[in-house]
Amino acid sequence: MKKILKILSVPLALAGLGALVWLENRRPLRRAVESKPVRSGRNLAVAAVAALALQIFEKPVAAHLTKIVERSDLGLLKIVRLPKWFETILAVVLMDYTLYLWHVLTHKVPFLWRFHLVHHVDLDLDASTAVRFHFGELVISVLWRSAQILVIGVSPSSFAAWQFFLFPSILFHHSNLRLPRELEKMLQNFIVTPRLHGIHHSIIQKETDSNWSSGLTVWDRIHGTFRNDAGQEEIVIGVPAYQNPQEVVLTKILRQPFEKQKNDWLLPEADPSQNQLK
Ligand SMILES: [Zn+2]
Repeated sequence: MKKILKILSVPLALAGLGALVWLENRRPLRRAVESKPVRSGRNLAVAAVAALALQIFEKPVAAHLTKIVERSDLGLLKIVRLPKWFETILAVVLMDYTLYLWHVLTHKVPFLWRFHLVHHVDLDLDASTAVRFHFGELVISVLWRSAQILVIGVSPSSFAAWQFFLFPSILFHHSNLRLPRELEKMLQNFIVTPRLHGIHHSIIQKETDSNWSSGLTVWDRIHGTFRNDAGQEEIVIGVPAYQNPQEVVLTKILRQPFEKQKNDWLLPEADPSQNQLK
């Protein structure tokens, strides 16, 4: 069974991604700013470097640490012996919560924001944005991931279960899919939806400073950072200082974290005293 799932996982993931891309083209939520083929090509190029970084850095570290957790009964979830299914659910929930905390840090710690900014300067938001992370962000996040595994006590199977939950969730909430309002409202009680995550990618800083969850919406609700009140038609996606498409071409965004940073939340040539988007 495990072997069949392993063989089927790649075609299933590709079929799911294909269906999502087809659906978001049929029922778009927001109007596109840039040409879709150009943007998708750029995002997939950034994603290819990121995937390589994950393979080289995160995968071996996570595999090693989750095995240590299993062998030595390390971490919170190993203090008491829980039924396997229950331990897996708790691990996924706690990984999801600590990913919420990491997401807040990537916005609030200037050094981390340099890298996470590359994800946010995309001028549109769709399934291709979901995989567009600067390789530097993914390499740095290995430290956080290691702490998550060791402190929570995440076994290899729980880690696989978390990834199985996270990847479709990230693709879904970044997508430009217009769901029926009532359905989306019902889903928002539990999981992050495209309209919610669109608010997090707004050029208005106080909207970006909301909806940090990557899976369950409960974390935003607990911390008072849940927002579902912004009209999707009015949302401008991106970061104010990077609204010019010439600023977000592939060669520039790969170098961006290593260069002098702009005042991100000001529109270019704006009067700083008047035009800050707050
Ligand atoms: Zn973010």
